[in-house]
Amino acid sequence: MKKAAVIGNPIQHSKSPFIHNFWLKKFNIEGSYEAIKAENNKEFEKTVLKLIEDGYTGFNVTIPFKGLAHEMCDERLDIGYVSHYPSDLGAANTIKIKDNKLIGYNTDFFGFYQDQKITMRNDKKNVIILGAGGAARSIAFGLANMKKYCWDSDPTLIILNRNEDRAKSLIDDIYKSNITSKKMNKDLTLLSGPLEDIYERIRGCNLLVNTTPIGMNDKGVNFPFDIRDVLYGANGLLGELVVYDIVYNPLKTKLLEEADKMNLVYKNGMGMLIWQAAPAFNLFFLENDIDNFEEQHLEQYENFFGELWNDLFNNVAYND
Ligand code: NAP
Repeated sequence: MKKAAVIGNPIQHSKSPFIHNFWLKKFNIEGSYEAIKAENNKEFEKTVLKLIEDGYTGFNVTIPFKGLAHEMCDERLDIGYVSHYPSDLGAANTIKIKDNKLIGYNTDFFGFYQDQKITMRNDKKNVIILGAGGAARSIAFGLANMKKYCWDSDPTLIILNRNEDRAKSLIDDIYKSNITSKKMNKDLTLLSGPLEDIYERIRGCNLLVNTTPIGMNDKGVNFPFDIRDVLYGANGLLGELVVYDIVYNPLKTKLLEEADKMNLVYKNGMGMLIWQAAPAFNLFFLENDIDNFEEQHLEQYENFFGELWNDLFNNVAYND
């Protein structure tokens, strides 16, 4: 029996076991996927060694261990929208155990891209990302490499974060990165600033992505700006802003509520959550190479997507 797990802290609300167990049934695979809590870094390392010893095929990693997991890997790869490439991200969310070695991937950008590729192709050339943590890093690195798909002339990627220095170092890392020097759109303008800069930056923005936990059920915090005013700032000018909130609990955050009221196209993070898990399942339980995931394996997951989305919505999303 193949075994995999997700390790994090907190972990009790993780949707990963639900998603992987859904696919285990659909693909008729005898396997198990469990959530494991690690109190601290030391316990995380111990848990990983135990999983290797117990013959697990791999594991996912969530807050706050993605950086440590990346450091622990023997080999590090990131899955982009079509392929993977050596990692400068500094965060791994999917680890394959092979011959007692850890091979790390980051599938977050794949999840983000796959969930909204229809809107991505619609010439989104001015993007604002709110937040500069792990999820923002993977999305920003991924977008900076999207020349082929949607980056038209003079694209701009702006990272706004509470801690401005962190946004700046993300931008610096993208510039410095080997992967981007090979594949990045050289015309791309990268800018950073505090969250409040959104008032001036929103003009001309086509895609606004929230990667902060603001709006999550258990967080009583708000953005340091008036969402409605900000959305009017963009919409009044262009009328084609897409708003993406990677938070999925609740499914409609305040940001998305306002976007809805203004008839903007918007999406929550549940699709991303499902899609970031698909290449991991493929690695852990089907033992397929991740290289040709999109070409060879994506379709079977697409067939189950609607049912899984509804199951998550009905059974999990509103119950915690
Ligand atoms: P992270 O590495 O801890 O980063 C959190 C980011 O949010 C940082 O930029 C942080 O700013 C900012 N932030 C936190 N609290 C804030 C507050 N009160 N006010 C303003 N900014 C605040 O976390 P992460 O891994 O990027 O995850 C972020 C969110 O994305 C979580 O809600 C997570 O559940 C969600 N997520 C969803 C998916 C999906 O598949 N849908 C995938 C990954 C993550 P500072 O730098 O100033 O601290």
